[in-house]
Amino acid sequence: MFRYLFLNIVLAVMFSASITVNAQKINEPRTTAEWTATYQPFRIAGNLYYVGTYDLACYLITTTKGNILINTGLAASESQIKNNIETLGFKFSDIKILLTTQAHYDHMGAMAAIKQSTGAQLMVDEKDADVVASGGSSDYELGHYGTSFKPVKPDRLLHDGDTIRLGDMQLVMLHHPGHTKGSCSFLLTVKDDQRSYRVLIANMPTIVTEKKFADITGYPGIANDYAYTFQAMKNIKFDLWLASHASQFKLHDKHKPGDAYNPAAFIDQPGYDSALSDLQKKYDEKVKKDAQQ
Ligand SMILES: [Zn+2]
Repeated sequence: MFRYLFLNIVLAVMFSASITVNAQKINEPRTTAEWTATYQPFRIAGNLYYVGTYDLACYLITTTKGNILINTGLAASESQIKNNIETLGFKFSDIKILLTTQAHYDHMGAMAAIKQSTGAQLMVDEKDADVVASGGSSDYELGHYGTSFKPVKPDRLLHDGDTIRLGDMQLVMLHHPGHTKGSCSFLLTVKDDQRSYRVLIANMPTIVTEKKFADITGYPGIANDYAYTFQAMKNIKFDLWLASHASQFKLHDKHKPGDAYNPAAFIDQPGYDSALSDLQKKYDEKVKKDAQQ
């Protein structure tokens, strides 16, 4: 009798827990095989490593005082990132700082979970802070999908040109808005036995919306922000180019799983310039089309 009652209580608790989980359901609008496929982690240059999925680039930067993780893929990417970090011989729990190149679910998916399991500090571009805290539901374009990643509260808000320091490493955040209000890139210098490399982890300014820029009431400055970002991104000096998605900097043409250490594979100013000018063309065409409507 008591056992039966106890079982009923357990079932009731389990049932209400599952309702709560459903109420906070995360709705990832789209996932692709390239986004979810695993990828063999590797050393890019010096103390900078690729630990993402096949296409969702995540970067680990090791320092004398713990590590920095940039981007976290989808909600289901956490175990892949953890495995990748451990495969490289590092501890997941050594992550002290979490960063993102933009507040979309394909880079923020596992952020809340990784923050919780590592206790790391999350630092985001101030203009993305409210979208990060709303789990994407306040995003000007993807907001209509509701909560697309688990909401998470940033510990520090970053502004254009701010430096992120940990141990012997320094990263500079560059505000590159448009794709989201607080999209950003990171500049850092890494060293190996041979030389040092200035690395740009770029958030490429792709256009997310089908709407006329002028009709986007949730982001009145969007057209000007894109124009600013194209101009700002033209003037960056760097040696190695990386981006938020592997496909954007053609990772899979430059590196094959098991390849020997070769930072020079990511020296590609022409590739960066042409990717940026292709995006600029799309932006210019959109502005022209908007004006004709
Ligand atoms: Zn995005």
